[in-house]
Amino acid sequence: MNERILLVEDEEALRMTLSDRLESEGYKVECAADGVEGVKRAVGEPFDLIVLDVMLPKKSGFDVCRDVRKSGCVVPIIMLTARGQTVDKVLGLKIGADDYLTKPFEMMELVARVEALLRRPRGAVATESAVHSFGGLRVDIRGTAVSRDGKPVPLSAREFRLLQYFLEHRGTTLSRSVLLKEVWGYSTETFTRTVDVHIASLRQKLESDPRQPLLILTVPGMGYKFAP
Ligand code: CA
Repeated sequence: MNERILLVEDEEALRMTLSDRLESEGYKVECAADGVEGVKRAVGEPFDLIVLDVMLPKKSGFDVCRDVRKSGCVVPIIMLTARGQTVDKVLGLKIGADDYLTKPFEMMELVARVEALLRRPRGAVATESAVHSFGGLRVDIRGTAVSRDGKPVPLSAREFRLLQYFLEHRGTTLSRSVLLKEVWGYSTETFTRTVDVHIASLRQKLESDPRQPLLILTVPGMGYKFAP
């Protein structure tokens, strides 16, 4: 039951504080102190979640994230960014991170984000073994693999869950707040822009022409609808 978390952080004091707190929440925490070790462990061992600092020796957190996603690994990744690195947030989303925390942050906040990412979306069990195909798109829920025209499409864990949620509610109009609640586990509407950013990213990866989407449709004033 104990979910395994990989913590990639070079500051020893912070590493110990974070790892103590997460272990007190019942998680099994493993640590890496630089980017190269981070990638090696993330790709080579089974983790349920990665907490990844951006500023790291040997390899930046962004490069670590990119390398992990390139390897086909969809483990949820929370990035720790320095104050004011807003440009970096956008970059991080593009390379497949799932969530962000800006330093300094409250430990409670990190624990809440970890819990939200580890929570399985409702209905996941029902379609777990299913493989869905739409034109050239193939989605293997159990194998958490997506390919387009035979080529693997690297998705972040959040993008995969979003796609999975769409698949489970095909043809239904889903509002941003419903998606936030069900896929992100957030109950406020503060982050609805987050949904739009992830939808844009999914379209970029899955649609033949992301500006004229045929899979994930916008329902004006309402939200989105998956209607292949
Ligand atoms: Ca650092």
